[in-house]
Amino acid sequence: MRTPAWTTDDSAELYGIREWGHDYFNIAKTGEVTVKLKDGKKTKDVSLASIVKGLRERGTQLPLLIRFGDLLRWRIDELNEGFASAIKEGKYQGVYRGVYPIKVNQQQEVIEEITRYGRKYHYGLEAGSKPELIAALSYMHDPEAYIVCNGYKDEEFIDLALNAQKMGLQVILVLEMPTELDLILERCEKMGVRPTLGVRFRLSAESAGHWSGSGGDASVFGLNISQLMHVVDHLRERGMLDCLRMLHYHQGSQIPNIRAIRQAVTEATRVYVGLVQEGARMGILDLGGGLAISYDGLKGASEASSNYGTKEYCADIIEAITEVTAEAGVPHPDLITESGRAIVAYYSVLIINILDINRFEPRKSVAELELDKDAPPLLRNLFELRLDAEKHATKTSRDRLQEIYNDAIYYRDKLRSEFNYGKVNLRERAHGEELYWDILTWVSKMLESCGHDGSQMDRLDTIMTDFYYGNFSVFQSLPDLWAIDQIFPVMPIHRLKEKPTRNAVLSDITCDSDGKIDKFAHSSGINPTLPLHDPQIEKGHEYMLGIFLVGAYQETLGDLHNLLGDTNVVSVRVENGKVKYSRELEGDSVSEVLTYVEYDPKDMLTRFRNLAESAVISKRITATERREIMESFEAGLRGYTYFES
Ligand SMILES: *Cc1c(COP(=O)(O)O)cnc(C)c1O
Repeated sequence: MRTPAWTTDDSAELYGIREWGHDYFNIAKTGEVTVKLKDGKKTKDVSLASIVKGLRERGTQLPLLIRFGDLLRWRIDELNEGFASAIKEGKYQGVYRGVYPIKVNQQQEVIEEITRYGRKYHYGLEAGSKPELIAALSYMHDPEAYIVCNGYKDEEFIDLALNAQKMGLQVILVLEMPTELDLILERCEKMGVRPTLGVRFRLSAESAGHWSGSGGDASVFGLNISQLMHVVDHLRERGMLDCLRMLHYHQGSQIPNIRAIRQAVTEATRVYVGLVQEGARMGILDLGGGLAISYDGLKGASEASSNYGTKEYCADIIEAITEVTAEAGVPHPDLITESGRAIVAYYSVLIINILDINRFEPRKSVAELELDKDAPPLLRNLFELRLDAEKHATKTSRDRLQEIYNDAIYYRDKLRSEFNYGKVNLRERAHGEELYWDILTWVSKMLESCGHDGSQMDRLDTIMTDFYYGNFSVFQSLPDLWAIDQIFPVMPIHRLKEKPTRNAVLSDITCDSDGKIDKFAHSSGINPTLPLHDPQIEKGHEYMLGIFLVGAYQETLGDLHNLLGDTNVVSVRVENGKVKYSRELEGDSVSEVLTYVEYDPKDMLTRFRNLAESAVISKRITATERREIMESFEAGLRGYTYFES
C-alpha cells in the first residue's frame, strides 16, 4: 500500500497555521507560507520566502524581523468594530474609546499608525511612564481620544498631563496609589486646572494566566476598597467629586478564559455603580488589557491559548455591564480597554536560517559492525544484542522490543560506570555508545513499522531528536520564551509540500543552555520537538523558519546575551501587486553592542594593533600579515553580530 503524498494541507494541519494564523498567515500551493496584505482595495497573499529573497538580493542578512503595518491596522479594526457592533446589538448607551498601551510595542511606527489610522475610532493611548507620555503627547492630538496615564507619577509627569489637558486633550490621571492624590491636587491648584481623575482598583476576582499577579489582592498597583473610599471622601471634602470620572482595573495580560474576564467586569461594574451612588461624576469604565490571542492555536484555556475571540470578548463585556447597571438604574458608562497584545502580536515575524544540525546517523547495516577480540564483556553484550535483534527482525513482538530496549539501556549505563572506574577505555566507551544509539534507533524504527506504541520507552524521544542551530538569540528576540516559557508558533516558511522527516529541538547561537526552543505547539498538542525537514545545508540549500506573533512585548525586553544585538528590521507592504520594502533598519553592529557595554571601539583597535605590532617585532607575523589581520578585525567590528553568509 502506498501512503498518500504529503500535501500543503497536511503541513497546515501539522503546524496549526489555520488556528493561530487568524487567516493572516496561510500556506500557498507552492508550499510557502504567505502573509495576507492589502493591495489597493483587494488583498494579496505574499510569500514570506519571496520577501526574504528580495531582501537578500539587496544585501540584508538573516535573522530578520519583518513588520506588516496592514496586520496592525486590521487588528485596530477588529477590536474597534467588535465593540461597535456589540454596542449596537446590545443597545448600549455609551461609546467605546479604546487606548493602546505604549509599553507593549513602543516603536514609532506603531504609535504613528495608532494615532493616524485609529483616528476614525478616536483610538487613544495609555502611558505608564514619563517617556511614554512624552511620546503620546507628540503624536496623539485627537481631542476626542483619551490619553490614560497609569504608573508612578512625579511632579513633572503630572504637570505635563495637566498642561496637555489645558491645551484641549483628554488626559486622565489614574491614581495607582493613595499617596498620589495629594501631589496631584497640589499641582492642580498651582496650575488652576480641574483634573480628570481615574482610580485604579484592585479586583478580588482571581484571574488565570501568567500575569495574574498584576490583578487581585497581591497586585502592586491599585487601591483596595477602603483606600478607594478614602479618596472619595477626600475629594468630597475638597468639593472635587466631579473630577472623579473613571474607574480602572487591569486583570493581567493574556487572560485565556472568558469566564475570568466576565467575572472581573461584573465586579468592577458593581464598584463603578457604587462610586456613582457615592456622588462621583464618573462616566468612564476602563477594563485594562488582558484580551488574549491563541499562540498555540488550541483554543483552550491554557496560558498560551484563548477560549474566545474578539467578538465574544466585546459582546460579553457589554452584556455584563448592561446587566449590573440596569439593576442599579445607573447610565451605561463609556468604555475603555487597554488591549496591547491583541493589537500588535501579529504585526511582526522573525525569520531565521538554520546554520547547522547535530544528529546521530545510525550505520546503514549490521554488516559494518566489528568488534575487537579482547573487547570488554559489556561491549560484547551490546554487540550481540544488536546482531541478534537484526537476525530475528521479522518476528519481533512488542514485548521483545521492550526487552531489547531495556537491555541496551542496562548495558550502556553499566559501561559508563565501568568507564568511571577506569575499567573501560575511551575508545571502548565510544564504541558502546554507538551500539546503544544503533539499537535504540532500530527499536524505534521497528515500533513505527509495526505500528506498536512506544510511549513507555521514553529514551527513544531523545535519540530521535536532532538539534537544529538557528541564527538567532532567544534572549534578544524572544525574551518571554526564556523568562516565562511563552509559546510562539514556529514553522518552516517553505518546502511545505514535503513531509518533514526529522524531529528537532531548536537551539540559538548563544552558548547558554537556556538558548533553545523545546516547547512547540503542533499536532494539536504541546511537544518537546518540532517536525522539520532535512535542511540539506551541505548541498548549499537554505532552510528558513518563521517565528510568528512576536509583535507584543518581545522587542524591548530583549537583552544583549553573548553580545548578540538587535536584528535587521524591515516593514513590508504591497502596492500595485508589488512588494514594497520600507523603514529598513540595520541591526546592531559588533562595535555598537560593545559600546552599549562601555567599550570604546577606537581604544580596542589600538590595543589589538599593539598586540599585532609586537608580534611583528618578535617575527611571529610579517608586516603584510599584520595589515590583513587588522583589516579583518576592523571588518569584524563593523559587521552584524549574527552569523553572516
Ligand atoms: C501591560 C498593560 C496592559 C496591556 O495588556 P495586554 O494584555 O497586552 O492587552 C494594559 N494595561 C495596563 C495597566 C498594563 O500594565
